[in-house]
Amino acid sequence: MKISYEAARAAQNDTGLRQAFLSQIDLEKARRFIAEVVYCPTTDHNHLMATNPTSRAKWGCPGERSTIEVFPNAFQLYKYEDGFKSVLIDHEGKHAEDIFENPNRIIMTARNALFICCTQRRENLREVRAIRNQLTAHALGTRNLQESHIHVLEHDLRLFLGK
Ligand SMILES: [Zn+2]
Repeated sequence: MKISYEAARAAQNDTGLRQAFLSQIDLEKARRFIAEVVYCPTTDHNHLMATNPTSRAKWGCPGERSTIEVFPNAFQLYKYEDGFKSVLIDHEGKHAEDIFENPNRIIMTARNALFICCTQRRENLREVRAIRNQLTAHALGTRNLQESHIHVLEHDLRLFLGK
């Protein structure tokens, strides 16, 4: 049985139903970069979703599929499915693609200021690519985002571009 986004969103305390919804979602172009989408029913931080590379990818091995964690805040914030899919598929999926294609871009530790600066710039570029991917999907009509969501994305884009 297909579970609707509305049903998953309403089932605040039903981890099983939310997981079942996430397991059956069509990840479209991002499918080959994602191993699984896991629901994490923790509310002790503000995260919406997170892309977790494998330890092999962290060491720079390409071709590794990441796991995406989805937190309750994502269901809370997005009242409509396209907003949710925009973050899951177009944003986190883009991070998973980056990790799959070019895992050197992820550097977890930094030893000096210069290195931190480079790492930060790399991180910012990863965010820019992911946000542009969301805006492109909207422009192409794959996703129908609300005006308020677009404003947030454009704001974040300027932030990550340092403007
Ligand atoms: Zn991101």
